[in-house]
Amino acid sequence: KYMTADEIRQSFLKYFESKGHTIVKSASIIPENDPTLLFVNAGMVPFKNVFLGLEERPYKRAASCQKVFRVSGKHNDLENVGYTPRHHTFFEMLGNFSFGDYFKKEAIEFAWEYLTEHLKIPKEKLLVSVFEEDDEAFEIWNKHIGLDESKIKRMGYKDNFWSMGDTGPCGPSSEIYYDRGEKFGSPEFGAEDDFRYLEIWNLVFMQYNRDEKGVLHPLPNPSIDTGMGLERIASVLQGVDSNYDTDLFKPIIQFAEEVSGKEYGKNEKDDIAMRVIADHLRAITFLISDGVLPANEGRGYVLRRIIRRALRYGKNLSIEKPFLYEGVDVVIEKMKTAYPELIQNRSFIKTITKSEEEKFIKTLKRSMDILYQMIEQARKENRRHLTGEEAFKLYDTYGFPIDLMEEILKDEGFTFDLIEFHNLLEEQKERARKSWKSQSKEIKPVYLTLKNKLPENQFVGYETLTSENSKV
Ligand code: ATP
Ligand code: MG
Ligand code: MG
Ligand code: MG
Repeated sequence: KYMTADEIRQSFLKYFESKGHTIVKSASIIPENDPTLLFVNAGMVPFKNVFLGLEERPYKRAASCQKVFRVSGKHNDLENVGYTPRHHTFFEMLGNFSFGDYFKKEAIEFAWEYLTEHLKIPKEKLLVSVFEEDDEAFEIWNKHIGLDESKIKRMGYKDNFWSMGDTGPCGPSSEIYYDRGEKFGSPEFGAEDDFRYLEIWNLVFMQYNRDEKGVLHPLPNPSIDTGMGLERIASVLQGVDSNYDTDLFKPIIQFAEEVSGKEYGKNEKDDIAMRVIADHLRAITFLISDGVLPANEGRGYVLRRIIRRALRYGKNLSIEKPFLYEGVDVVIEKMKTAYPELIQNRSFIKTITKSEEEKFIKTLKRSMDILYQMIEQARKENRRHLTGEEAFKLYDTYGFPIDLMEEILKDEGFTFDLIEFHNLLEEQKERARKSWKSQSKEIKPVYLTLKNKLPENQFVGYETLTSENSKV
């Protein structure tokens, strides 16, 4: 019998509590008072000001299981999702933190003891990386822990110098990898497409604050920030080769099988679609629960894109009707023990999701017509391509998924002006980037209407939303 994700979360927090850490509840995915960040992308984000010495807490050691979302800025895994067995947009990051208390030696000792003695992962299955200049970390692993030199790899800036974003706390890191075995060949350890060595835990030795000019300033106190993906450690402990085969994802994949009438594991293209849907369903559920609403800019635009993307992959599986809102129940069922607020927010999350799905399916029909009109018009003009402007209009105004557009155009023997399209897209992104910083604090009228339609006892979610949104 293996450990469930619920048990792993518990065990992690309990271990660090026994080592003098205060357990801190996950913060919202929407960063509080941080204009540099669209979403919380790591467990350390809620502690950023403590690392910087701007905020005091009644504890020097903390541990958490933080909801994170990686679809923008420095950490963006959107394109990986569905294609790798280890990446999600939304995931949970387990972490232990020291604010000027312990440093490298204890951080490494804790991680090693937890993995090998508490989780009982065989020592010979583990390898580590250290920053190339970090002799101290190398020595601790080699001499103190007793890990053979061949299992310690020095890596460069890209892999082993961690930063939250372009500015903010950063420092050299040491990462722990799990060897999935020879059936995955003998790739270079740490390579991009490496499925044999799974990165499970990143120990960051927080030492600097990077300013806008890129200059590193030493932090008031050297600190520790670690992050371990719950889904990845679950895959290791449950003896499966993909996060999507863990107990966290199985029921959601099963849901995708049921609505599509297809079987997971039969066909790669269908599998990718089911993984994307499973991933996006979790993201949709947690984003709305934390107060993000579909919109044409900022965070709401990211949510809107995620919903549309999930529907687009649903279309790949021949699902033509709204279905995501029903999947929300499956996500909540799995996550409710750790995040009981989901139960209270359930009907709100489902209502928002369903109405967004209906809207998109309707506009998709309409924009499909417009696309075919554009194609016809181009034929009359003896063109075999759409202009960048036409393509961008479909994408931006009608929310037409780019990959779907490409597919249809290809079927018609068409292309489109990619360069012009990209220029228009960049301009749009720049506008969005500017606008989310100055995003309005008000809730859009349509949601007020919605609020009035919901029965009184379902307001809890909405109240959370208003208070969360006022922080944006
Ligand atoms: P990778 O190299 O696999 O993309 P990373 O080095 O970008 O991971 P970190 O920023 O070091 O990841 O994050 C800390 C930990 O969070 C990782 O060691 C991993 O366990 C987990 N993690 C990172 N990105 C993801 C993701 N997209 N989905 C699930 N877990 C992730
Ligand atoms: Mg990454
Ligand atoms: Mg990495
Ligand atoms: Mg890493």
